[in-house]
Amino acid sequence: MKIALAGNPNSGKTTLFNAITGKIEHVGNWSGVTVEKKEGDVKQSLNPRNEDLVVVDLPGAYSMSPYTSEESITRDFVQNENPDVIINIVDSTNLSRSLFFTTQLLELGIPVIIALNKSDLIDKKGNTIDVPALSDALKCPVILTSATKSSDNGMPKLIDAVITLGKSNKKQIPPNISGVKKASTKEDFEKADKKRYAFVNNVVTEVERRKVSSEKQTLQDQVDRIIAHKWLGIPIFAAIIWLVFSISQSWVGPLLADTFVGWIDMLYEGIASLLGEDVNPVVAALLLDGIIGGVGAVVGFLPLIMVLFFCLALLEDSGYMARVAIVLDRFFKKVGLSGRSIIPMIIGTGCGIPGVMATRTIKNERQRRTTAMLTPFMPCGAKLPIIALFAGVFFGDNSWVGTSMYFLGIAVIIISALIIRKITGDYSKSYFIMELPEYRLPSLKRAAISVLMRAKAFIIKAGTIILVCNAVVQILQSFNWQLQVVAENAPETSILASIASPLAVLFIPLGFGLWQFAAAAVTGFIAKENVVGTLAVCFSITNFIDVEELALVGGSTEVSTIFGISAVAGLAYLVFNLFTPPCFAAIGAMNSEMESRKWLLGAVGFQLGMGYTLAFFVYQIGTLITTGTVGSGFIGGLIAVALIAACVGYLMRKGSKGNEISAGMRSVKV
Ligand code: GDP
Repeated sequence: MKIALAGNPNSGKTTLFNAITGKIEHVGNWSGVTVEKKEGDVKQSLNPRNEDLVVVDLPGAYSMSPYTSEESITRDFVQNENPDVIINIVDSTNLSRSLFFTTQLLELGIPVIIALNKSDLIDKKGNTIDVPALSDALKCPVILTSATKSSDNGMPKLIDAVITLGKSNKKQIPPNISGVKKASTKEDFEKADKKRYAFVNNVVTEVERRKVSSEKQTLQDQVDRIIAHKWLGIPIFAAIIWLVFSISQSWVGPLLADTFVGWIDMLYEGIASLLGEDVNPVVAALLLDGIIGGVGAVVGFLPLIMVLFFCLALLEDSGYMARVAIVLDRFFKKVGLSGRSIIPMIIGTGCGIPGVMATRTIKNERQRRTTAMLTPFMPCGAKLPIIALFAGVFFGDNSWVGTSMYFLGIAVIIISALIIRKITGDYSKSYFIMELPEYRLPSLKRAAISVLMRAKAFIIKAGTIILVCNAVVQILQSFNWQLQVVAENAPETSILASIASPLAVLFIPLGFGLWQFAAAAVTGFIAKENVVGTLAVCFSITNFIDVEELALVGGSTEVSTIFGISAVAGLAYLVFNLFTPPCFAAIGAMNSEMESRKWLLGAVGFQLGMGYTLAFFVYQIGTLITTGTVGSGFIGGLIAVALIAACVGYLMRKGSKGNEISAGMRSVKV
């Protein structure tokens, strides 16, 4: 039996999916988190008779009109795959909005069961819902559920009802709502929608009694007046992000990292003594410096990242991130981005790929493409080790480094959106109303699960792609073109150095014209963590974290001496890696969401140009401030920046012409 889960965004679909399948998919406390469909079997404890029950969780949808692509995924699935039963998850705290979609589902002719979710909140809010009357009006079963609870959550009853309905031969006869059998014209659609709204309004008035403005709500409103205030909201957000960076990078993170790095060092020593003296030095270097050292340097940052993600997960779960979206929304709308653009960007702080994928919910083609292009400017998890490394090496772990990278990201997004709007000449606006979830005590368990999932993904990535890259870098660094082992005092004769050196010339105006930095920036396109790994391999540093050990050889300034660049150049390098194109996988995601080669080329060109230009200004202005003169390669850099701007402008203008497919018509890959 195929069971489809359908419902509005934020109705609790993912939570309910997890509750009935026993899986742990990420749950986000804002609308529009689920984009791809997920599948799973109903777990044994809910299905004692071992029926064949497959559940598919679909993306949230407000209605089935072919507007956004996530809505068309739902529509296509429901229409093409013919599920046996649809569980329609209805947010009981938001009946009138949710039931509109229900009326459309009912008309499909597939048995529908309503899971009236978040039922724990009905009482809490002092509301009442007459469930039998609702079931009567909709002519389908309604089961109260509370997907976040671990017991007494209505799941057994729900699954029982699904099995009964799925096996029943009796056809479910839906109420006559829209009166339109097959709407074909726009007028038909509009007429049908009006009737649906009227029907829903009637039903809600009949079954729901809402308590007007409870004390709790007024308290929340008061808090929101400060936290989501149009100006105050920004410094509050800055302070919170600063706090998150302080906790992860200065306070709790390093404590955990020390132990963790100790283990990596032990592994290094262990393998070194196992290998002994007789092993070929190239093989030993590959194993020790390339693989353990390189991967270890990246993995060493894992505790910091986990602490940071844990804090962000708590913030999200508490309902705070939705307020951030509201605060930023004002600025985003002004520059022609959709209010919906913020959600992909916040998701992008975890990983750019789901962030870019979340742009699917944006109807307007230009806004969707612009958002997909700008989302990678938010520092993702893979970029955090680079931030932590450079903050540690040059700025004494100051939390303002990470915080300013977040805010630089937001500023760059706003400025870029303005530029793109100017180039494409599209001044269309969007209206998007975001619903604010209530504040609540964040769940440590949910945050822990979310962090563990990320940690797992990070370790898998470190053990595969990053390991391979480090090994390749180590090999390219060990040999010259005659395949002879490079002499210890002549690393610049290696294959790696000879490939990276011509590139490094381009970076002279940015302050880091050394082949090691060029090589690391290039491997960074495969995965951003590689920047740290490659630097570790190229400079033969096995760990960047163990401050005590580094202190023995002169404190954290020692790494900066080995790097051989100024702090300003270090900052420029950080900015370069954060604002040039993301990893290939994220570019792939951009490609599928943009559905236009020209836009993709324009986007990658724009990101390259943005990273280069920002790094150029950071280095040159920073050097001017700190030393009184501009840095080397100033004129050459200016010419490069101008050339890049001209090329990207041309590419994007070309990309924005023609090639427009209406959002409703685009095909959707699931
Ligand atoms: P989706 O967007 O429909 O997949 O919704 P999610 O599963 O991501 O849930 C959205 C938010 O609602 C999350 O913060 C959940 O923790 C919360 N939520 C889901 N189900 C319930 C419930 O039964 N009761 C309460 N109080 N919160 C819930």
